Amino acid sequence: MPHKSNKQRVLFGQNIRETLSDEVARLGRSRALILSTPAQSSSALDVAALLNGQSAGVFSRAAMHTPIEVTKEALDHVTEVRADCLVAIGGGSTTGLGKAIALRTDLPQIVVPTTYAGSEATPILGQTEDGIKTTLTDPKVLPEVVLYDPELVATLPVAMTVTSALNAIAHAAEALYAEDRTEDSTALAIEGIETFTNSLPRVLDTPGDLAARADTQRGAWACGAVLGQVGMALHHKLCHTLCGAFDLPHAETHAIILPHAVHYNAAAVPDQLAPIVDILGGDAPGPALWQFAKAMQAPLALRALGLSEKDLDRAADLATQNPYWNPREITRAGILTLLQSAWRGEAPQ
Ligand code: NAD
Repeated sequence: MPHKSNKQRVLFGQNIRETLSDEVARLGRSRALILSTPAQSSSALDVAALLNGQSAGVFSRAAMHTPIEVTKEALDHVTEVRADCLVAIGGGSTTGLGKAIALRTDLPQIVVPTTYAGSEATPILGQTEDGIKTTLTDPKVLPEVVLYDPELVATLPVAMTVTSALNAIAHAAEALYAEDRTEDSTALAIEGIETFTNSLPRVLDTPGDLAARADTQRGAWACGAVLGQVGMALHHKLCHTLCGAFDLPHAETHAIILPHAVHYNAAAVPDQLAPIVDILGGDAPGPALWQFAKAMQAPLALRALGLSEKDLDRAADLATQNPYWNPREITRAGILTLLQSAWRGEAPQ
């Protein structure tokens, strides 16, 4: 079965961003609206400078969780400047805005990722309206072109590098036991985890090591692509609930929950999670991921993100309200224990 990601043109390489102008022309377009967050507006201007007159301007108001109000503003801007394609430079938030515009206009998208979140490799879009985040899957939102340039992730602060990498690894970890997994998806998930576990320590050692950064981007692509291929379960649902209900930061929450969610499910599907132990060592996948996260200086405790202990009961209620598929039965007591352990920052036991 072909990878769904084969529908994308994916290019890796130092300075690959300099081919942007060719990529816009290749799409048969000539007026690219460049998207970014406010914090990355200078990167958006750098991109505009690479576009040789094919820039229709910059819209730098992308925000976490793709608020619908921002999408509406951006759509007005698209019409006003007569943009005929989109260039998103940034992490999952900026990519999300590009996808939200593409969903409504069918404009082609070129994504230049600057984190490891992996959204660029999926046909999935999460959007927020009136404080409620919903997720859809539509081939229209899969970006047409992705340019992975290691210089652009080399500016990621080390703390974000680590949490973003663990966010990516979480896609691959859950893909290992996905209900609709295939041999191909499992191989891709293993490739993603392996690539990150080999390259992340090198990046921590030398954050500007472009060869190591390039490897992390290959890991990000594999983890993102597998997220686009198979369904997610407990880990992603828990993070979705925690981020939505308690306004916790996306990548940090993923980094903290991952070892605990994997540990919970390892009781039911130890064989499917065995590749994590093969790659990281140790006796069990949850503790192995926790040790790896600790060694990478990742945040380990939900309480450090500002979640109060009394919120855990409500979080457990919310996380068990709507049934969904998971390899192990989800019980409120089990989820509460998991959350308490993640709140304290203990290794899963
Ligand atoms: P982000 O895009 O929100 O970026 C976080 C902050 O870091 C922003 O201020 C951004 O400008 C800044 N930043 C990004 N790259 C930087 C760099 N290289 N140097 C300095 N600063 C940089 O964070 P994210 O974790 O990439 O994305 C999170 C969002 O993506 C969430 O809304 C999540 O739901 C979504 N997401 C979607 C999918 C999908 O398939 N739809 C997959 C993964 C994540």
